[in-house]
Amino acid sequence: MSQPSEKALVPFVSVDNMMRLVHHIGVEQVLIDLTRYVEEDFRRWEQFDKTPRVASHSDVGVIELMPTSDGEAYGFKYVNGHPKNTAEGLQTVTAFGLLADVYTGYPVLLTEMTILTALRTAATSAMAAKYLAPKDTDTMAMIGNGAQSEFQSLAMKAIMGVKTVRLYDKDPAATAKCAANLAGSGLTVVSCSSPEEAIEGAHILTTCTADKQYATILSDNMVGAGVHINAIGGDCPGKTELAKGILERSDVFVEFPPQTRIEGEIQQMPEDFAVTELWQVITGAKQGRRDARQTTLFDSVGFAIEDFSALRYIRDKVAETSFHEDLDMLADPDDPRDLFGMLQRAKV
Ligand code: NAD
Repeated sequence: MSQPSEKALVPFVSVDNMMRLVHHIGVEQVLIDLTRYVEEDFRRWEQFDKTPRVASHSDVGVIELMPTSDGEAYGFKYVNGHPKNTAEGLQTVTAFGLLADVYTGYPVLLTEMTILTALRTAATSAMAAKYLAPKDTDTMAMIGNGAQSEFQSLAMKAIMGVKTVRLYDKDPAATAKCAANLAGSGLTVVSCSSPEEAIEGAHILTTCTADKQYATILSDNMVGAGVHINAIGGDCPGKTELAKGILERSDVFVEFPPQTRIEGEIQQMPEDFAVTELWQVITGAKQGRRDARQTTLFDSVGFAIEDFSALRYIRDKVAETSFHEDLDMLADPDDPRDLFGMLQRAKV
């Protein structure tokens, strides 16, 4: 881990610089790189401190802190989820995060994470699909065409070779936005007027809707055998997207069971409902997809290790570029015990 600079300045990646960095590297290349970083960290899962995220709920949303450490670096993300925000012209999800050196405790990176969360969530979906989706997957359904949807679609293109994305949102304006953003991406985009139409011929069904309530985006009779479901939107107590019957006949893969049992689709199931931890599939300790008839479900809620991977990636990339500014956010007197003296000397 690098030491803080002599002046203890902390590199800060603003939203503008994040956008510059992503365009400098290329969106799909970032998704490919992030998938690799997340996969590396899932392979060494046992090295990490793990805890369900700390959530503060209100009637209209949730604010969460997501910490983890691999013993060398410590990271956390601040993130909110407010489904009512879009109607007020605000984002449902916003985030920022910090990476610190465990040896000194000094931060080594502060960064926007709203864009980065969309990228890491998409990369994690694609990583799961790599191990769980049926072979020769070329069509996906994308249900919920909000902020995450283009990222999800492009990650499936870049990592899984998906060629066609079938879009559906209860708000046709969201579908029109997503279709326009994906024009020229190389994906064939089909806008659909119902979830049933969206899933026709699709091998990957991604649900990414936002509602602070139990919803049934996919009902039991809609889902045929052999598909892979990527359930992204249900990520809070009381907020799910899938009919219980789908869970009963799918093999369910999760990030960190103690968190997913509180927040994921499986909150609808008994506490001892059998799930497989995704990291164990990635290390080869557990089987992913067994056969073409199996229905697999990645019950994604978003876990701190994915944010840690994303922070690690940005730290590495920012070190090679000028896409950051240095923040004077640590009081660091020359004599470590003379904090007050430093304050006195600054008096004008
Ligand atoms: P968003 O508000 O930008 O988009 C959500 C979309 O869902 C909207 O366009 C809305 O019209 C649509 N929608 C709502 N109910 C629907 C329904 N019944 N049928 C079809 N469409 C419906 O939100 P976003 O930033 O795209 O996030 C979507 C969800 O994903 C949120 O719940 C968020 O908390 C979750 N999320 C999860 C992860 C993760 O790691 N699993 C990461 C980021 C976001």
